[in-house]
Amino acid sequence: MSGTTEAPTHPGRVAEVVGALRQAHPGLEVCPTGTATRAFRFDTGTAPSSEQPSGTIGPAVAFPASAAEVQTIVRVASEHNVSIVPRGAGTGLSGGASASLDQLVVSTERLNRIVEVSPLDGVAVVEPGVINAALNAHLEPLGLFYAPDPASWEISTIGGNIATNAGGLRCAGYGVTRESVLRLDVVLADGSLVSVGHRSVKGVNGLDLTSLFVGSEGVLGIVVRATVRLRPVPVARRTISAFFPSTLDGLDGLDSITLSPVQPTVVEFFDEPSLTAIDAFSRTALRGRGASLVLVELDGYGIDEQTADLSAALTAAGAVVTAETDKDGHALWELRRHGRGQTEPQWFVGEDIAVPKSRLRDVYSRFAELEERFDVRVSAVSHAGDGNLHPAITKPIGDADPDDRPASLDEAATELVRIALAVGGTVTGEHGIGTVKREWAALELSPRHLAAQRALKDALDPAGLFNPGKAI
Ligand SMILES: Cc1cc2nc3c(=O)[nH]c(=O)nc-3n(C[C@H](O)[C@H](O)[C@H](O)COP(=O)(O)OP(=O)(O)OC[C@H]3O[C@@H](n4cnc5c(N)ncnc54)[C@H](O)[C@@H]3O)c2cc1C
Repeated sequence: MSGTTEAPTHPGRVAEVVGALRQAHPGLEVCPTGTATRAFRFDTGTAPSSEQPSGTIGPAVAFPASAAEVQTIVRVASEHNVSIVPRGAGTGLSGGASASLDQLVVSTERLNRIVEVSPLDGVAVVEPGVINAALNAHLEPLGLFYAPDPASWEISTIGGNIATNAGGLRCAGYGVTRESVLRLDVVLADGSLVSVGHRSVKGVNGLDLTSLFVGSEGVLGIVVRATVRLRPVPVARRTISAFFPSTLDGLDGLDSITLSPVQPTVVEFFDEPSLTAIDAFSRTALRGRGASLVLVELDGYGIDEQTADLSAALTAAGAVVTAETDKDGHALWELRRHGRGQTEPQWFVGEDIAVPKSRLRDVYSRFAELEERFDVRVSAVSHAGDGNLHPAITKPIGDADPDDRPASLDEAATELVRIALAVGGTVTGEHGIGTVKREWAALELSPRHLAAQRALKDALDPAGLFNPGKAI
């Protein structure tokens, strides 16, 4: 280890854990605190915007290759009172996988086997470090797919998706990750291995601990194996674009989808500033087609009938509707996933609020007021099919010092959270609480509710071994 610039808070304890693991389990891969692991200090949501200096050091990281190795690591860390941060690919946006130098990161990178695929049971059994896209590449020749599709699907792990109950575009039709998880093997804080849930779709024996672990952000245990639900690849897919004359017209138009018997797999909404921003960044001309866009994907049998019926409903709602070719549809989905970016230096706060679908209009309607009150810009694309907005609160930096970030950005963001809560929404639809949204979480959950969550945490992890300071 060379070039270190800072010392861990408890170098002794973490070094003891690394030493004990190496001595008793020579086959286990463990990296000590050092420069090689500096990327493990942060996840995507908490990483500094500029590259870390070359001398920056990171936490110790263990790379187990079996559930038994995870159990060993947990027992040894527990004996030395060193807390553990479970980590998948580190693409989280809330700080859930960020680690300090007095912690041990347990990476699932080497737990990456697809153990079994059963077309007859409609399940796959996988280790947590399998990348979402790799599972789907494996399933494609079998005519099957795993539905949860966070935009990070090419880089994030199934374990991370489970621990964050990840959403994605297809949630409108197929539900969030929770709807695709049947059974989990989890290493608990005492080093024991427990299986929860069932390989069958049905199963109601006892409390639903599977749901408790899904979305628990690594604070209750380490998922070491998952049985996930598969679905047949649809016989056809079709993209429909519906451009409306204004943002509010587009939001009204969403009702025609909700009330239609045609139920799309994906329903995304772009307001006027979002279309303008995509055009500026991606050199497209979407704004010339309308001031807001509802982008829909249909799939399954009867695709022409579905297309005709939904197009008629959207046209009646005032949209200019196009059933896109496969090529143009693909290009539009690429713009949804990767089409936005900065064309000028700006301060930025991203949000992940979700509201009942019928209240989306109420939230967008408040953007202008927030812009005026806090002197910021506010716009949002939404997973409109499930009421999940991703607002961007921005302010051009201009000639100012980039480090001199105005407090008004966070004040506007907090006000927007309050607006979402007032209409029955939540502070996070899919990215989780992690470290960055804990104050907002407290605005949503009552003291009794928070106490109940802490009691559950204490019951499973009384010493606070897993991911302290995160999620609850
Ligand atoms: C470009 C981009 C697009 C994104 N799009 C979406 C999106 O559309 N929808 C969405 O929901 N999210 C999205 N995200 C956020 C992120 O990709 C998801 O939260 C993802 O599920 C995290 O997976 P990961 O493997 O990177 O987990 P990590 O970031 O490594 O970990 C996330 C959390 O899970 C815990 N964890 C990880 N593995 C385990 C395990 N085996 N057992 C227990 N706990 C574990 C960690 O401790 C942490 O709390 C996006 C991120 C990026 C960078």
